[in-house]
Amino acid sequence: MKPFGLAEPASLKDAIAMIGDADSGVRPIAGGSALMLMMKPGILQPETLVSLRGIEPRYSSIETAGDGGLFIGAMTTLRRMELSADVARHAPVVTQALRRLSNVRVRNIATLGGHLAHGDPHLDLPPVLIALRAKVHIAGRDGERQIDVEDLFRSYLETSLDSGELITGVTVPAQGNRKSAYIKHTTRSADDWPALGLAVSFSLDGDVLRDVRAAIGAATDIPQRLKSVETALEGKRAADALQGAGDAAAAEAQVHSDARGSAAYKRELIRVFTGRVIRKAMESAAGGTI
Ligand SMILES: Cc1cc2nc3c(=O)[nH]c(=O)nc-3n(C[C@H](O)[C@H](O)[C@H](O)COP(=O)(O)OP(=O)(O)OC[C@H]3O[C@@H](n4cnc5c(N)ncnc54)[C@H](O)[C@@H]3O)c2cc1C
Repeated sequence: MKPFGLAEPASLKDAIAMIGDADSGVRPIAGGSALMLMMKPGILQPETLVSLRGIEPRYSSIETAGDGGLFIGAMTTLRRMELSADVARHAPVVTQALRRLSNVRVRNIATLGGHLAHGDPHLDLPPVLIALRAKVHIAGRDGERQIDVEDLFRSYLETSLDSGELITGVTVPAQGNRKSAYIKHTTRSADDWPALGLAVSFSLDGDVLRDVRAAIGAATDIPQRLKSVETALEGKRAADALQGAGDAAAAEAQVHSDARGSAAYKRELIRVFTGRVIRKAMESAAGGTI
């Protein structure tokens, strides 16, 4: 690996000041689990890494609002999220997804901010966070902004972060009595990268689905909403709409063949697992499944 310098700022403000334009050769590092894999073969060759480990503790913490909404700092490790009683109480579908995300060694060092900024479409949390209507907090030299999680992803490994911007955290709005679920389908071991990730969230009005959010990851170029599924389910009884939702998802998702299966195979997975994830959410406690 090419030698590099390491800067360890003690504040977010200093970190932002150190990170220049995209071609400056300076790059942030959080857990390093994804970055190091790209530096070892020389795909990325930064001259300086700016470690975010020393920035203010707020960015490694999980805060709960009175209504059950969550703020999760960007430097919070995935393991800390997995073990958080607040996350389990207010967004149990996140806890459930984390338990099968890689292994505990990776979860111990990987952070939420690095997870999202990496921009790999195969990540587990983006579809879950999209279904929960979460927002990404971003800070840069020009100030702070918030965007919906689905607006973070532009293309393979490319995000909408501007040069010098950092993710500072994620807010998950209060879920109330909404039901949510995530299904990860792997073609190798259970905790492998998913071949397909599907998440849904909705309210129930009697047995009618309302305010539906559906999202897909892994099988598509970027994690994204499945708007045709949302439309197919909205205002319907789940039992009447499962087939149509699966067909709509398989038709909408732009899938490609890769090492985890052919496009035709993944399309069939999407058709079948769309019904399953909706059923799983129907059976879940309010806020999701553990
Ligand atoms: C063996 C292995 C198996 C894995 N399996 C899975 C899996 O099954 N499912 C899954 O979802 N994921 C999986 N992962 C991926 C893992 O989730 C990511 O590597 C991890 O979340 C990245 O977080 P990090 O803190 O280590 O990021 P880093 O490696 O430190 O950074 C990743 C990228 O984000 C940038 N960055 C970091 N923090 C910020 C920030 N706050 N703001 C802006 N940019 C930032 C860095 O410059 C870099 O480009 C696996 C990883 C490994 C190594």
